[in-house]
Amino acid sequence: MTPRPASSPIDTSRPHPARVYDYLLGGKDNYPVDQELGAQMPPVAKAGVAQNRAFMHRAVGWAARTGIDQFLDIGTGIPTRPNLHQIAQEINPAARIVYTDNDPIVLRHAEALLISTPEGATDYLDADVREPGRILDHARALLDFDRPIALSLIALMHFVPDADDPYGITRTLVDALPSGSCLVLSHFTSDFLSAAQDKTEEYRTSGISLRPRTRAEVARFFDGLDLVGPGLVTAPQWCKDTPAPESDGATDSFHVGVARVL
Ligand code: SAH
Repeated sequence: MTPRPASSPIDTSRPHPARVYDYLLGGKDNYPVDQELGAQMPPVAKAGVAQNRAFMHRAVGWAARTGIDQFLDIGTGIPTRPNLHQIAQEINPAARIVYTDNDPIVLRHAEALLISTPEGATDYLDADVREPGRILDHARALLDFDRPIALSLIALMHFVPDADDPYGITRTLVDALPSGSCLVLSHFTSDFLSAAQDKTEEYRTSGISLRPRTRAEVARFFDGLDLVGPGLVTAPQWCKDTPAPESDGATDSFHVGVARVL
């Protein structure tokens, strides 16, 4: 891999994952190239990203209510309120959050991610998940790795191709966490999409490497960990202490899970 230099300008000549995701969520931080790709997505794509975002809200809320007050969020995305720190700090104002993304437009919005409660703290690092050592070194400045941390890889790992060892990267990150920590992960899947709905190829031809994974492939990210709640399910099915939203399953396109580090 060749991580992009940190100072890269915003490239509006080709679509970027963060901006297409923002478009699908109904945001305004996207360019015509992103809108063009987003518009090719089937209607289920919009519902799918909204369900993914709602899973983030429930899972982070649950983690914060169990007493976890430190969060390492990689693949943060363009800020959409409430962001992870707003959910965690509403439950515990002293929560500390390290955000990371590799997209220059997310970096440009970092200010919005850095407005913490006075009791807590937030930080932003411009980095690629394929540099887990660099991310961990940076996170150690704000987070105490002797106390539980929630690591969130939400709608991220499907952008990491097999050749870049997504399981090894996840293992490196999880191995750095103390017992009592948790992994919150969601991952795009084509398991429930018809051939007409599956637009993976459109992403690829526009230069975004998208690797949907099957349920069994997503389960591997949780190897050695203790899944909590309903286990590995689709985004609208995940609930722990708050009810899951109504869903008929027709728009499910993310496998999600939350697991404890033993
Ligand atoms: N986690 C947020 C945003 C998901 S969109 C949510 O679920 O709501 C996916 C994000 O991952 C984008 O912001 C994109 O820029 C980021 N991303 C993609 N590949 C990445 C990589 N290799 N390293 C770090 N971030 C990456």
